Amino acid sequence: MGKEAIALISGGLDSIIAARLVREQGFHVTGLYFTSAFSKSYGNEHHTHAALASRSAGIDLRIIDLGQPYIDLIRTPRHGYGKNINPCIDCKIHMLQQARTVMEEVGSPFVITGEVLGQRPMSQRRDTLNVIERESGLRGRILRPLSAALLPPSQAEQDGVIDRSRFLGISGRGRTVQLQLAERYNLQGFSAPAGGCLLTDKNFAEKLRDLFGDKEVVTSRDIRLLILGRHFKFGKDTRIVLGRNSRENEILLDLADEGYDLFTPHQFPGPVAVLDGPDTPEIRQAVGRLILIYSKSVTGSHRMIRCNNEIFDPGDPLPIEALPVRKIGTEY
Ligand code: SF4
Repeated sequence: MGKEAIALISGGLDSIIAARLVREQGFHVTGLYFTSAFSKSYGNEHHTHAALASRSAGIDLRIIDLGQPYIDLIRTPRHGYGKNINPCIDCKIHMLQQARTVMEEVGSPFVITGEVLGQRPMSQRRDTLNVIERESGLRGRILRPLSAALLPPSQAEQDGVIDRSRFLGISGRGRTVQLQLAERYNLQGFSAPAGGCLLTDKNFAEKLRDLFGDKEVVTSRDIRLLILGRHFKFGKDTRIVLGRNSRENEILLDLADEGYDLFTPHQFPGPVAVLDGPDTPEIRQAVGRLILIYSKSVTGSHRMIRCNNEIFDPGDPLPIEALPVRKIGTEY
């Protein structure tokens, strides 16, 4: 059997280069791409940057859904949050714990990551790299080829399983070396550098915090709705979501099959809304009026709303402040 290695693949350039540098030393590399309800590509992972870039680097990709345990972890992370609701240290530990299982399954001596010392304020400092390594149960078995020259050697480097001198000593946020390597290896399809996942987004963080406050168990179904649209709350158990554009309207139309009440403008252009909660006359009227607020006005016509198969009159338009709903998040 050939030499096997496991790599965490995010879709960004760093993780792909790290895996490629190990492949160059004769290893067959299996990349692990973690997905969750928070991933924008959820359900469409074979077309992601991770899939495209892995292909160009000659790396097989395995997709692992982090599932409900990951949602629960975000509610109460041991190491706290970054700027918003991103628990980067716990997140890394959790992913590496999953990787450890695959590492043992395929007989890899280490897990490769694309971490670069000092690149991220929370999870890529020297002290947090140590915490992550210890708590993932991978002490001495994480290989960081991009910053290897600046870090203590992993077990595999000490044992001569892999040649440390062929690794790099990059630190900080610069990208010059990585872009040169991308060209040398003809890497394609990787994503542009981004600030972080959805959990680092202020608007989303506010909506998720509010949901955690209201619900003891938050599921991927809740998250799928939370990612979309403008959010309004009626009491604690009722949420109304309006699409902000045609793409979101399409998704909400699909999601309505999952047990939500669907509201649409009747014969005039405007947003789609779904209701997660009881459909009472007061709520129904509030949803209808929200649709009127976010629709283009149609002069001289009285606008009706369709709820599932019924058409109703939402009454006169009112400003949001006069409706019995509360805005959630920072974008509505
Ligand atoms: S930015 Fe998001 S995906 Fe990345 S480590 Fe932090 S929480 Fe995890």
